[in-house]
Amino acid sequence: MDISVIIPVYNEEENLPVLYERLKKVLHDQKLQHELLFVNDGSQDASLERIHALAARDPAVKYIDFSRNFGHQIAVTAGLESCRGKAVVIMDADLQDPPEVVPELYAKWKEGYEVVAARRRARQGESVFKRSTAALFYRLLSRLTSVQIPVDTGDFRIIDRRVVEVLRRMPESHKFLRGQIAWIGFRQTTIEYDRAERLAGQTGYTFRKMLRLALDGITGFSDLPLKAVTYFGILVTVFAFFMTLYVLYSRYILEDYVQGWSSLMISVLFLGGVQMIAIGIIGEYLSRMNDDVRKRPLYIVRDTNL
Ligand code: UDP
Ligand code: MG
Repeated sequence: MDISVIIPVYNEEENLPVLYERLKKVLHDQKLQHELLFVNDGSQDASLERIHALAARDPAVKYIDFSRNFGHQIAVTAGLESCRGKAVVIMDADLQDPPEVVPELYAKWKEGYEVVAARRRARQGESVFKRSTAALFYRLLSRLTSVQIPVDTGDFRIIDRRVVEVLRRMPESHKFLRGQIAWIGFRQTTIEYDRAERLAGQTGYTFRKMLRLALDGITGFSDLPLKAVTYFGILVTVFAFFMTLYVLYSRYILEDYVQGWSSLMISVLFLGGVQMIAIGIIGEYLSRMNDDVRKRPLYIVRDTNL
């Protein structure tokens, strides 16, 4: 098996046949032994029927059907756990990641890179909001973390068997695969491509899911928010010390101590807010630790032809 293509699927009924045709053509032209591994992440439309139809006429089509929606990162993880190719491509099912880029990724892998990420040069048909929050997030993340996660890349990439083996040994339940892959190391590079518009259907990434992914990325690869809370606490304490001196001074020396309601309110409200944020940040880390401690299975398979 030269190459496995992992495709997470959530409500992509109209895209699947087109994706299949275009991928097949590309892989045939390159004469690659391949498997297409569809992971149905609890779709509510006819995606599963489409996948069954493809699998019935093509033995290269493999599928894993989840018992419910577990999320994109988990769907890819399931694919990684069962793929068999020497090289593994991760791509979206909505044709935003063009299959025609796969030969380029494959060629770079052949050159000896264990990881080749596809970087978005342009993004068509995505809202200004999505593009700007994404751009902001990638830059914030690269500031916060010590691992070099390439900016403006999604999960569209080719990875070597060795990287897959390491990923399988990373047990965290809140996956941020592009971060984990960057963390693993080896020889990594990027190529550029134009991200196309979604062919049909609509995005499965709601704002909530995007926010959760962003928080998984930050908490998974940076302790800076926790440390920032500590530093800020120290700063406030130093300030409070001098304030206390001043308060004592005005109480006993100046004997001017009736006023001060506004400054009191401001500092109480401000510190109250800061404390809430601090507790929230700790909570974000704690809840993820809690999930890891429970050791629940990451996903549940209803059916598969592997
Ligand atoms: N996806 C998934 N589970 C989800 C949401 C999305 O498996 O809960 C899949 C989806 O079918 C697609 C890929 O993840 O193949 C990327 O999702 P989408 O195109 O909706 O995200 P966007 O491109 O808008 O960020
Ligand atoms: Mg998409």
